[in-house]
Amino acid sequence: MPSSPIVADLRSDTLTKPTPGMREAMAAAEVGDDVYGEDPTVNALEQHVADLLGHEAGLFTPTGSLANMLGVRLLVEPGQELLCDTLAHVVRAELGGHGALGGITTRTVPSPRGRMDAEALLATAAPDAGPYLVSTTAIAVENTHNFGGGTVQPVEQLRRLREGATALGIAVHLDGARLWNAHVATGVPLAEYGALSDTVSVCLSKGLGAPVGSVLVSSAERIARARILRKRYGAGMRQVGILAAAGRYALDHQLTRLAEDHAHARSIAEAVAEVLPSAVDPADVETNIVVLDLTASGRAAVDVAAAAREHGVLVSALGPRMVRAVTHLDLDDEAAAGAARVLAKVLSS
Ligand SMILES: *Cc1c(COP(=O)(O)O)cnc(C)c1O
Repeated sequence: MPSSPIVADLRSDTLTKPTPGMREAMAAAEVGDDVYGEDPTVNALEQHVADLLGHEAGLFTPTGSLANMLGVRLLVEPGQELLCDTLAHVVRAELGGHGALGGITTRTVPSPRGRMDAEALLATAAPDAGPYLVSTTAIAVENTHNFGGGTVQPVEQLRRLREGATALGIAVHLDGARLWNAHVATGVPLAEYGALSDTVSVCLSKGLGAPVGSVLVSSAERIARARILRKRYGAGMRQVGILAAAGRYALDHQLTRLAEDHAHARSIAEAVAEVLPSAVDPADVETNIVVLDLTASGRAAVDVAAAAREHGVLVSALGPRMVRAVTHLDLDDEAAAGAARVLAKVLSS
């Protein structure tokens, strides 16, 4: 139990609670049975997100993991290979779902701080590998990169990957759980990111602040197949317009404010760098995730997290020497400043 009241919960941007306006939108949502395709609010959300990303159709899913599993499975048949980076959410945090449920195999390429290396991925790809080696049929990219520390993938790298992958006949899946953050940080249009990928998953339940929900977008033909797979995986949902309304509200009212989260994350990184420069370079904090590397300091991540908790600030110990702090909708200027003070104090002692 923390000995102080909670000042800031920075363990994740999934911890946000629905805002009053969002709750009103949910209460007022028109609903129907979505397995029958009759929920107007879900249908409208799916089309809206598809339009934003410049794709034909969308599919609402309860989680980002499922949107990724369906998106990848549309591009990779059982026994074929997905390439991605070693820190990717699809290989580290989806509990082996792609292998266990989709029958796909994976290989990974290193990515310092999650920054994708298009040439390394393309050089590793083995398209049409014949009867002896497994064939690569898709590459997954994560933007922004979660375990990399909210890293934005440079759009030139994404273009290079797309061009190279197309030349090899390999598809691209974008894990865009936090694509909204990349868009707000760079100003690159969502449709430009969309055009560089065959399937895209986006989360509504991270910094955008909806309680649940993700959307997968792609061609109408692929999304029709994904609708069948979603039901097979047990995630055909009924009157979920009540949840889709929260997602739509988030997109309409809580998207551009992600810039505030980015400013808060930067100020937290600056406060820490002042007392412990080896832990973080504020210039590396591009969006809403601050990763602190405690290797040089010799401090244990669990000890730092416990000490911060004593002062009411919750952060995650994601590795023996890695602490993660994530800013979000439920963190105002005052709480962000308080969290920065606490983390600086804990790391200076
Ligand atoms: C959160 C996240 C997901 C999806 O997570 P769920 O908890 O299944 O909704 C996918 N990719 C990345 C990069 C994420 O951060």
